[in-house]
Amino acid sequence: MVRIINGKEIADEFSQTIKSRVDEVKSRGVFPKLAMIRIGEDENTAIYTIKKEKLAQQIGIETVNYHFDNKVKSADLLKLINELNIDKKIHAILLQSPLPKRLSFRNIVNAINPEKDVDGLTTLNQGRLFSGEPGIIPCAPLGVLHILRIIHEDIAGMHAVVIGRSSTVGRPLSQLLLNANCTVTLLHSYSRNLEEICKTADILISAVGKPKFVDSNFVKKGATVIDIGLNKTINKNGDISFIGDVDFDNVISVAGAITPVPNGIGPMTAAYLMHNTLKLACCY
Ligand code: NAP
Repeated sequence: MVRIINGKEIADEFSQTIKSRVDEVKSRGVFPKLAMIRIGEDENTAIYTIKKEKLAQQIGIETVNYHFDNKVKSADLLKLINELNIDKKIHAILLQSPLPKRLSFRNIVNAINPEKDVDGLTTLNQGRLFSGEPGIIPCAPLGVLHILRIIHEDIAGMHAVVIGRSSTVGRPLSQLLLNANCTVTLLHSYSRNLEEICKTADILISAVGKPKFVDSNFVKKGATVIDIGLNKTINKNGDISFIGDVDFDNVISVAGAITPVPNGIGPMTAAYLMHNTLKLACCY
């Protein structure tokens, strides 16, 4: 029978551990503080910023939010990041994507001091991950690995197929899996024979951003399926909700284990944002 992984429950338990560590560092006079930068009116980002703030409050991490409109100049963002870099009370800086197309995400994210780069997106931290050196690792991939380690005693030698090669999710995740000794295949929009390749996966992970992209034709019997996708849907009453990349009802008949959306990888990503903030505040 398929095992449905409750990411919310796992994240809640992990958050309790983080909270205990936060209490402990606070008693030593360190007060972890996270700065979040959001540009434009992307609803997903707005909703998830509120969720992150709420979680930070529960854990005892202070947050400060900076929200700019779509017309913001690159120079203004760089000025803010420079101020945050030298502010001793700020331990972690999160630049939330998407950015308007005219702005270079890479240029702006690289202005963040790598020692405050909470989502591990600066070129330095990405390079550290790719060379197997210690550094700050992006939150969503860390959340995926945490869940995989709960499902499987040992993932070494397993064939992990990742669909999606963004620098925030797919690429760092494939590297993390490689560092964990999986055999990794990374697929993207130019890949051929997608279904066939996916069907050879022991672990199939989708980070595409297309609703119900993965159906049972992609899944080997008994495989673990991890759904990172968060795709906004609006019902007849105008209510917003999120669905994944995986056609859940169709895939559960084949998969051995599966993460749902919501309550799968999303809460784990938020918990790892807190984990990385704590790491930067006290022991980096
Ligand atoms: P992205 O930057 O848009 O990347 C999407 C990737 O999917 C690209 O590499 C693209 O290939 C690939 N792709 C698109 N169509 C494809 C196709 N037909 N076949 C194979 N590959 C295809 O998105 P992202 O930032 O990585 O995010 C992906 C999804 O994860 C989104 O739904 C996002 O909201 C979600 N997300 C969730 C969390 C979480 O905590 N759960 C965190 C971050 C992101 P090319 O490179 O060739 O264009």
